[in-house]
Amino acid sequence: MNEELKHAQARAEDLVKDAQVLAKLANLNLMDRAGVDYFQHNFKDFVPERFWEPWRFSTKEELQKAWQEFPNISSEELRAKLRPGPPPVQKFQEWLQDAWRTGFSLNACLRLLSACSVFSELSLKLGGDVQFEDFVGQSEWPAQRAILFLAVDVWRARFCQRCGKMFVADKTGRKFCSSECFATSRKNVKRLWASDAREKQRSKKQSRRKR
Ligand SMILES: [Zn+2]
Repeated sequence: MNEELKHAQARAEDLVKDAQVLAKLANLNLMDRAGVDYFQHNFKDFVPERFWEPWRFSTKEELQKAWQEFPNISSEELRAKLRPGPPPVQKFQEWLQDAWRTGFSLNACLRLLSACSVFSELSLKLGGDVQFEDFVGQSEWPAQRAILFLAVDVWRARFCQRCGKMFVADKTGRKFCSSECFATSRKNVKRLWASDAREKQRSKKQSRRKR
């Protein structure tokens, strides 16, 4: 195999891996603290860090009141005084699940992609001089790469036929998210055959007795 081809293949494998992490995020139970910690620790910088922090919000009046009370407050201190809301990852995940169901439409992709850019720049630039280039966002997140990849290879974004989880298919024939699901589904088929066979035997015996 020539170098160029090898390189292209390695890149495709990396993209599949990124997309598989995206599926993990789509399936993640955000109420499970340990699971969330595990994801954050193992896939650090997959999405902007601010995704995981509570979203701080306020009404215009609340903001004005805070400025009046604390005229010299820094924007970071002000942020801490605002009411905490759910972390942005919650909305991001909802949109991601939506994208999975609707085949990564342009609209679904756009909001996912821009959420990553907006939050990465917000975390760096809040309170400082914001240049147009900064705001538009120049950082590249693995999550964004994976979203674009799935938008092109839509066939890869699937639901497991056994457990219903979202997963990324590495080849077209893939129907299950894991070897466990594949195995249990095969066992189920065998079990079904077995019970079917038993059923047939029983009805044969019964019909014989009737005779
Ligand atoms: Zn499964």
